[in-house]
Amino acid sequence: MLLEISGLTASYGPVQALFGVDLAVAEGEMLALLGRNGMGKTTTIRALFGLTPASGGRVSFAGREIARLAPHRIAQLGLGLVPEGRRCFPNLTVEENLVVAARPGRWTQASVAELFPRLAERRRQLARTLSGGEQQMLAIGRALMTNPQLLVLDEATEGLAPIIRQDIWAALRALKSGGQAIIVVDKSLSELLPVADRCTILEKGTSVWTGKAGELSPQLQDRYLGV
Ligand code: ATP
Repeated sequence: MLLEISGLTASYGPVQALFGVDLAVAEGEMLALLGRNGMGKTTTIRALFGLTPASGGRVSFAGREIARLAPHRIAQLGLGLVPEGRRCFPNLTVEENLVVAARPGRWTQASVAELFPRLAERRRQLARTLSGGEQQMLAIGRALMTNPQLLVLDEATEGLAPIIRQDIWAALRALKSGGQAIIVVDKSLSELLPVADRCTILEKGTSVWTGKAGELSPQLQDRYLGV
């Protein structure tokens, strides 16, 4: 396994958010991290990246224990994050946003432009002038420029227009076909499940079900994901 998380716990001050999360991602695999609002998806991602310190449990990435490392060290080891809310540098151009993230590897400005031609057309525009969908493409492009072994997207398509969502899913399918390992959080199961290989469901900060995306029955969806 490329990533193995076991028994992960984390708190925000006195408020415990994770009570024991277990999940794993193999090389080249796309894992969907699922669960209703407030069940711990973002906290799991934050703990994986060292942004919210893990209070217990293990995180093994490419054979190394990373649960106690600083966020910049974790990123250097090959984890790329597309955070909820995108967070591009608003006053840098598209090109500058990409360049500041660059680390050696197969992803370059040219290959990001192939994946997202719209970004190439807007490379001299300030990030803050982009549409939400274009900013998400830039956030993905920026994460790819770090040449991550594992790409993690929190809310891949939230708030985006349907036509742009299709572009994002097409890009994620292309990345997966290229062998990129991915963890993705998204509310649209109808778009997510056909692309994902496996799913892990969180409930109240604990992983309660893991299986193939095709095995996530309507009953399971009702029980764990219904509103
Ligand atoms: P959503 O889909 O709403 O983003 P989520 O599954 O990502 O939900 P988290 O954001 O990880 O869930 O939240 C897990 C729990 O931690 C929730 O009970 C939430 O209220 C709590 N929590 C999240 N952020 C904080 C914070 N900054 N301070 C205190 N509690 C927090």
